Amino acid sequence: MKYTKDDIKRLIEEEDVEFIRLQFTDIFGTLKNVAITASQIDRALDNQIMFDGSSIEGFARIEESDMFLYPDLDTFTIFPWRPQQGRVARLICDVYKADHTPFEGDPRYILKQQLARVKEAGYTFNVGPELEFFLFHQDENGQPTTLTHEKAGYFDLGPVDLGENARRDMVLNLQDMDFEVEASHHETAPAQHEIDFKYEEALTTADNITTFKLAVRTIAKRHGLFASFMPKPKSEYAGSGMHINMSLSKDGGGLIRHTKGMCLITNPLVNSYKRLVPGYEAPTYITWSSTNRSPMIRIPAARGEMTRIELRTPDPSANPYLVLAVCIAAGMDGIENRIAPPAEIQGNLFDLSASGREQYGVEPLPSSIDVAIEALKNDRFIQNVIGEHITKKYIQAKSDEWNTYRKQVSQWELDEYLFKI
Ligand code: GLU
Ligand code: MG
Ligand code: MG
Repeated sequence: MKYTKDDIKRLIEEEDVEFIRLQFTDIFGTLKNVAITASQIDRALDNQIMFDGSSIEGFARIEESDMFLYPDLDTFTIFPWRPQQGRVARLICDVYKADHTPFEGDPRYILKQQLARVKEAGYTFNVGPELEFFLFHQDENGQPTTLTHEKAGYFDLGPVDLGENARRDMVLNLQDMDFEVEASHHETAPAQHEIDFKYEEALTTADNITTFKLAVRTIAKRHGLFASFMPKPKSEYAGSGMHINMSLSKDGGGLIRHTKGMCLITNPLVNSYKRLVPGYEAPTYITWSSTNRSPMIRIPAARGEMTRIELRTPDPSANPYLVLAVCIAAGMDGIENRIAPPAEIQGNLFDLSASGREQYGVEPLPSSIDVAIEALKNDRFIQNVIGEHITKKYIQAKSDEWNTYRKQVSQWELDEYLFKI
């Protein structure tokens, strides 16, 4: 939607909007917001709403903490799930520093920089994401569990269960917010679902992913369920992906060259790497194919206008702004520098033997987050895309996460070793 300041003020009046949430995300993609009352809308539209950047993870040091929110008028949306009188709307904002220049730690700014590059080269970059998630029960204290009573699988239909009703309600709410929902279905694992919405230009898609997650979580709660975008909540079932369908790069050359360096962005958690294991429709090797689902890049069968690349590595815990920024940059690198993709691998990769992999020069994806941290440290190109500020804060936070994790003693280790050794 294209809005002017006057349109927004009129909508607030006509739709009885009482609160406006000004939203942005931290460097990990976590949504943040401050609510203002409708009486403050002029100040907000004049970019005068300030916040303390030092309280947002990965943002600023205490000495330079005043930051400003610049609302993107076109993102004005009313939350359909909030009260119908005294309604709640939101505006997604860009983050500016006290000197009124864009803040380098704002992921939306990082994506916008790449989009400017794409535009300059005369391309448009359309992205359609596919987000998978689980709907679990909560315990009696309202805390999330990994329990579910349903046993459905891929494309199954009910007995109408809580999950199915929740998913229907999610689709209706998303449509109220002008999402063009194309499909929704049960995924392979029990309690796992997928809702796909129409591709858009990249900035809109990144905003949409953020809004989508908020809507799904909110509506799940309303149904007494807990929605989780954790990449691999259960070791014995498939994890959740966030496949990125994009139509800019015709071949996957740039994406393949930068896969490892991008991994910490596309798969940011310790847990992300437990999804990237053989046997669960998630990629494990850096390959492409037009025929099957085991490789990292798939060229879906649709042709003509719909010809696109599906990158299957990303998971829904990733920061969508940064994911799309690195995808664009890597794709453009491939086009501008004519990076030829390696040969296509036909057949099921999960069945390819070690010698077969060697013969084709097939490389594995990082097997754990520490490998991905090293890979980002070694990819100057990707570091330049996300900028010095985010590179430093991001690598620091992820190294801390890894160091905390590797000191844990897991139930698996106890079961495996305690009695035997
Ligand atoms: N859940 C799988 C993943 O982890 C993908 C299944 C599918 O192809 O939709 O990426
Ligand atoms: Mg799926
Ligand atoms: Mg897919």
